[in-house]
Order: sequence, then C-alpha cells, then structure tokens
Amino acid sequence: MPASMGFDDVLGHDRAKARLRAALEGGRLPHAWLFAGPEGVGKERLARRFAAALLCEASPREAPCRSCRGCERALRGVHPDFLVLLPEAERVARGLASRAEFERTPSRELKIAEVRQLERWLRLGPVEGRAKVALVLPADRLNQSAQNALLKTLEEPPPAATLLLVTSAAEALLPTVRSRCVRLPFAPLPPEVVAEHARSHHGCAPEAAAVLARLSGGSLGRVQTLDPETVETRRQLIERLRALRPGDGLGATRLVAVLAEEREEAIERLRLLRTWYRDVLAASVGASNALLIHADLAEAAREDAARLGGETILRRLAAIESAVEAIEANVTPRLAVEGMLASFGGGP
Ligand SMILES: [Zn+2]
Repeated sequence: MPASMGFDDVLGHDRAKARLRAALEGGRLPHAWLFAGPEGVGKERLARRFAAALLCEASPREAPCRSCRGCERALRGVHPDFLVLLPEAERVARGLASRAEFERTPSRELKIAEVRQLERWLRLGPVEGRAKVALVLPADRLNQSAQNALLKTLEEPPPAATLLLVTSAAEALLPTVRSRCVRLPFAPLPPEVVAEHARSHHGCAPEAAAVLARLSGGSLGRVQTLDPETVETRRQLIERLRALRPGDGLGATRLVAVLAEEREEAIERLRLLRTWYRDVLAASVGASNALLIHADLAEAAREDAARLGGETILRRLAAIESAVEAIEANVTPRLAVEGMLASFGGGP
C-alpha cells in the first residue's frame, strides 16, 4: 500500500484501524459506530478518514485512497454525502461559524431540532450513490431529548446511512444509544508516540518531550496545547512546594502568589500539584519510575514519600481537590490556595 493511503496518517490505534478495515473489506458495514476514548488521541481524525473510505471511489481494499474526488471532498468536509454535526459553540470555536450569526449565546449542546434535521438529511439518500455518512461530534453533547430522537434513526437506519458518534465521555450517552452502536474503543497513545509528536511539534529536547508526553496523559491534542516551558515551571513549582516547612510564612506567601493567578491558571497549577502527590503516593508503595508522571523527579518523589507518609499524602491530595472545587465554585483562587496550604501545615 503506498504511503499516502489508508489510515496510516493517524498515529497508533492499530486494533481500531484493523476493525474498520475488516468492516470495509468484508462489506458488512454496521450502521452506527461509537468512537470512544480519551480526548485528543485521534478519534475524530480516524472517523473522518473512515468517512472518506466509505465515500472513496477506489476499491474497499485501497480506501481511503485520499486522492479520488470522493476522498478529497470528504477530507475537506465538503462532500454532499458527508455531514458533520457540531454544537453551535464548537462551530464558532473552530471558525466554521461567526458569533454574530447567533442571536443567543451559541449552544454547547446538540438539540432535538438538529437531530431531526440530520435524520431528514440521511433519509434523502446518497447524492452520489455510495453512502451517506454523518459524524456527530462530540456525541456526548447530545442532550437527553436529542439522544431519544436519535434512537429512532439508530433503530431503523436508512439503507445507505452510516453514523459515526465520537465521544470522550461515552457514559454520558443513554445505554440504549450506546447499545445500538458498534463500539470502537480508543486507548491513550503510548508515551513514546506522544513524546515523538511533542518533540517534532514543539521542537524541544527529548527529555522535555518525554515530560510533556506524560503530563498529557497520552493525548496528542493536549500535548500540543501544553507550553514546553511547563517542564521548567513545573520543576520550580514542585521545588518550592517541597521546600515549604510549617511556620514558613514567607515561603507560603510566595507560593500563594505563584499558585493563585487567574482562575484557569490556578486550576491548571493545582492539577499539576495533584499529579505530583499522585507520584509521591505511587512512590510510597514502591512504584517504578516508569509509572511516575514526573519520572525525572523520581528521587524527590521517593524522599517526599518517606518524609510525609501515606496519610499525609492522601490528606494533601484531598486538600488540592477541595481547592480546585472551591475555585470552580467561584471562591477566589487566593483564598482557596491559602486554605489548602494551611491544611498542608499539618504535615511534618
Ligand atoms: Zn478515494
């Protein structure tokens, strides 16, 4: 197979690709698929290539050839037999619609009217005689009544229709919706795959790329949005936290200043600290470096594990969690972080 064919421009997910390939070549195509797995691992990318394969003019074995008119238009999202259903807010976020087009705040949900429109579109049948493919993105944004409306289509799909539901929160879908789709599970990408992507995307050193990959939780989407400087700011933040001792008022004040920035940043940094104590907890039960997110700081994690002990580590994790919840509930970051550090003071 030439380099530019098939699903080879989607990283990883060999099992999912093999199942899609088998369905294409076996000619027994399910009417509905559920692409389910973590955010940013390539579910949408693979779903779009599968849609192209269904509309490809080449033989099923070669589809998607990525060069015929069917593939070319499907991949650009302009094929008359391919429809992408996105919530209004998502269309604005992707630059596919302008905020000015909406009288009210663009909806983050997919509603029943949109599902009915989709259904009518599917029942019209293919314009070019091959297939009619709809991508619902993200499917967990379908509200309850929209999901109920979709059930009818899932129960009696028009002959040439294929529905591709993509979600990172499959549990938000009704069990009846889930059970009528063929589930295609996606796992986080292997760390080395994400690290390689981080290295080429950010142009950073391999060591930094490895840290970013672990922080991303195996998500290409997330690793792209992480600032490479995070690697260093993370190290400094953890060092400051580790240096803090009970009664160190100045140290605590400085740490509050670093942590309690704008709401979003504060939450981001607290989540980072949570990954640190998660590592310390793992180190306390003898986890190997490979299991740590901050593997480059493994020695420090083991020191903290020995110094703090399981009970204190768990208490700190709970305090971080409470601080995040408080900030999300509109408590000022400063107040939330001060409260968190005060409860840290109970440790050794
Ligand atoms: Zn093609």
